[in-house]
Amino acid sequence: MPLPAVFHPYSSSPRSLAAPPQYDKKADRIASPANNNHLEAPAMLIHGACHCEAVRFTALIDPAQVSVCHCSDCQVLSGAPMRAIVKAAIADFSLQGTVQTYTKTAQSGQRRDQVFCPVCGTPLYGCAALNPEFVVIRLGCVEERAQLPPQRQIWTASAMPWLGDCVAPSGAA
Ligand SMILES: [Zn+2]
Ligand SMILES: [Zn+2]
Repeated sequence: MPLPAVFHPYSSSPRSLAAPPQYDKKADRIASPANNNHLEAPAMLIHGACHCEAVRFTALIDPAQVSVCHCSDCQVLSGAPMRAIVKAAIADFSLQGTVQTYTKTAQSGQRRDQVFCPVCGTPLYGCAALNPEFVVIRLGCVEERAQLPPQRQIWTASAMPWLGDCVAPSGAA
């Protein structure tokens, strides 16, 4: 069933992008009501869009939470040697557009939704298949990605052995 054009993915009530979560500049943190699902750390408002721009989102994130994942699932699902990610609380995430979901089952049995644009295929975010509290946003579709250097790397045991050579400055454009 197609999703409505503007919706909050895990709430029955529509949530407009025109009214993003309140950001208290003075305090440099989210001015949230008594809701402990919001990030506690200083927050940054980010904007995302898929390649065809049929899907857009905004989120409040903690820049210290930006990571790179070298696991083999991220390699296959992102089409890249690694995937940069940042999490946001569901309450701080607003999505506009119709998305499609592929549910991956890990070896542990844990099921995770992989959410992408059904038109252009851009990976958008992942989350727990059941009762998600967070979305894990794919940094590649975030406008502010150049200002969000990863703070840690995970699953480095499966990192591509040639990655260092690949990203080292070569002097050639
Ligand atoms: Zn798209
Ligand atoms: Zn991964």
